[in-house]
Amino acid sequence: MCGIVGYVGDKSAVDILIDGLSHLEYRGYDSSGVALMTKNEINIFKAPGKLLNLIQTLRNEPKEKIDSNMGIGHIRWATHGLPTMVNAHPHCCNCGGLTLVHNGIIENYKEIKETLIQKGCEFKSQTDTEVAAHLIATEYGKCHDLKEAVSNATKQLRGAWAFCVMHKNEPFNIVATRKNAPLIVGVGDGENFLASDIPAIIKYTKKAIYLNDDQIVKVTKDKITIYNPDGTLANNKIEYLPFEPMALSKMGYKHFMLKEIHEQPDVVRNILQDKLKNEIDKIVLDDIKLNCEQLKNINRIQIIACGTSLHAGLVGKYVIEELTGIPVDVEPSSEYIYRTTIADEKTLVIGISQSGETADTITAIKQVREKGSHVVIITNRKESLLARLSDSLLHVNAGIEVSVAATKSYIAQLLSLYLFAIYTAETLNINSDKVREIKHELMTLPAKLEGVLANTSKIKEIAKKYSSYKNFIFIARGINYPTALEGALKLKEISYINATGYPAGELKHGPIAMLDETMPVLAVLNRGRVYDKVMSNCEEAYARQAKLIGVANYIDEKHQNLFDDYVLIPDISDMVSPALNIVILQLLAYHIAEYLGKDVDQPRNLAKSVTVE
Ligand code: GLU
Repeated sequence: MCGIVGYVGDKSAVDILIDGLSHLEYRGYDSSGVALMTKNEINIFKAPGKLLNLIQTLRNEPKEKIDSNMGIGHIRWATHGLPTMVNAHPHCCNCGGLTLVHNGIIENYKEIKETLIQKGCEFKSQTDTEVAAHLIATEYGKCHDLKEAVSNATKQLRGAWAFCVMHKNEPFNIVATRKNAPLIVGVGDGENFLASDIPAIIKYTKKAIYLNDDQIVKVTKDKITIYNPDGTLANNKIEYLPFEPMALSKMGYKHFMLKEIHEQPDVVRNILQDKLKNEIDKIVLDDIKLNCEQLKNINRIQIIACGTSLHAGLVGKYVIEELTGIPVDVEPSSEYIYRTTIADEKTLVIGISQSGETADTITAIKQVREKGSHVVIITNRKESLLARLSDSLLHVNAGIEVSVAATKSYIAQLLSLYLFAIYTAETLNINSDKVREIKHELMTLPAKLEGVLANTSKIKEIAKKYSSYKNFIFIARGINYPTALEGALKLKEISYINATGYPAGELKHGPIAMLDETMPVLAVLNRGRVYDKVMSNCEEAYARQAKLIGVANYIDEKHQNLFDDYVLIPDISDMVSPALNIVILQLLAYHIAEYLGKDVDQPRNLAKSVTVE
C-alpha cells in the first residue's frame, strides 16, 4: 500500500506532488508528507490523517519554504508504527541531508536498526522505513554518490520496497528503485515524474517506463538513466499509458462507490461486446493461450486470490466445475504461499487481483511459475506486475475503480470467470447445452442489472431500518454462498458492522446459537437447485425470532410472511445469479454506511491496493 510520487522539472513541485497524492489516496490515508528541494536545503512537511490535513499545513507555510521544482511525496498505509506525525514519511537521516519515501516492508529492519544505533544513528520513528534513510545515508558517506549509495544499501535489505530518495548534495536529481512494489517513471518534456500508479501522473504525461525489480533510476528534469542491478545501463522501453483523466470524476454521484455500482451494466456490456456475440459462435478470448491439447492435459485448476477477488474465485469454482468437469480449488493467496502446495505442469493456476499488484498473490504466482504450471491472470490492470507474470491474460476491463470497496471490478471478475469456463468447455467441445444456456443468460444480464439499479427505493428503506443493528448474518447455498461472503464483506468494510457470511446449511451447526431478535439474517434465494433448502434454513432462523431479509428472484406466497423485508430481483438462472444478487448487497452496504455517516470511499484501516504481505 502507500503511494509515492516524485517530480523534477520547472513547475511548482508541491502542486504536482499534492495533486499526484490526491489520486493515490485509495492506497492509504493514515498520513501524508512531502519533501521539497530548495536552494540550500530540503524542507519536509507532514500531517497525520488524510491529505487534506497536509494541504492545510502547507497553506500556512511561507512561500520561500515551499518554492521548489523538485520533490517527493508519500501517502501512508501504516505497517510498522502508529499512524502518527512522527511516523509519517518522508523520513530522514540524522543530519537531514538525505530524505526518502517508501512503499513496502523492510523485513530485516530490526537487525539493521541495531547495527545503525551502534554506529550512532538516532531513530525518531517506529517505522521500518527509517532504517533505509539512515542506511543509505551511511553508504552515501562512503561513496558520495546517491545512486551508488541506494544500490549498496538495498543489497542489505530484505522485503519489498519502492523508494524515492533525495540528497541535498544532488539537488537536481531523484534516485528511485523498486523490488516487489510498484513504481513507474513518467516521461515528460523538460520534466519527469515518479509514481506508484498511473492516476498520479496521467494529467501530465501519457508516457511511462516500468522498472524491473532492483533496477535503479536517476531522474533529472531532462534525463532518465536506468541501471540494472549489476550497474550496467538498462534500456527499458517507453510505454503509452491507458487512462483518461476523466475516469477519476464522480460524475454527479455522492460517492465513487455509488457511481461504480451504477456503472456495472455498462461494464458487463463492454466485456461481452467483442467476446460473446451470440449463443452459437464460439467466444473469443485473444489472450488465453491454451489450445485443446493443452487443456486436455490439465487435471486440476487452482484459483488464488484475496478479499473480494477470492469471492469471485469461489463463484468461478462452481461455474468452471459445472461446465468443464475439471476439479477446482480456491485458496487465499496468503495461505497458499507458506505451505507445501501441489502444483505442476498439469495444474492450471488462475490468479485474480483487481490491481494486479496484490503482494500475496504475486508471491504465490511466482512460486507456481517455477513449478511449470500455466498461469492465467484475471486483473483490471493489464500493465500490472501480475499481468506481466501471466501466460494467459483476462483483462477484466472494468475501468479505473476509485472506491476502496470493490464493486464493478467484482462483477467484471465474475464475467471473466464465466467467459473462461465457457472458453474451456468450447475448446474441449463438451457440455454445449449448458454453455448455450449460460451464454443466453449472460446476454440478458446488462438489462436486468439496469432494472435493479433503476429502482432502489426498497433497498434504501431496508438500509435505513437496519442501520442501527450491530451484527448481521448473510446466508446462501451453492453458487450464491460466495455472494453471502461478499455481501457480508462489503457491509463490514464500509459500515464497520460485524457481518458474517455462512453457507445456509451450516447455520444449524453453530451460528444459529447467536440468533434472536437482535440479529438480522439476510438470505439469498434463487429459484433452482437449492431454493427449498435455503427456505428451510430461513424457517429455522424465523423460529429463533431473527429478523429475516430476503434477496430473491422468487418467494412463493406461503413463505412471504417469514420475511420482515425482501427485495425481488428479475428472474435469472442459478448459474448467473451471483452477478445480479451482489448488486443488491452492494447497495445495501452502501446505503447503511451512508445512513451511519461513514467515509464510504475511504473506510478506515483499508487501502485498495495491498502491496504488502
Ligand atoms: N512500512 C512503511 C510504513 O509503515 C510503509 C508502509 C507501506 O508501504 O504500506 O510506514
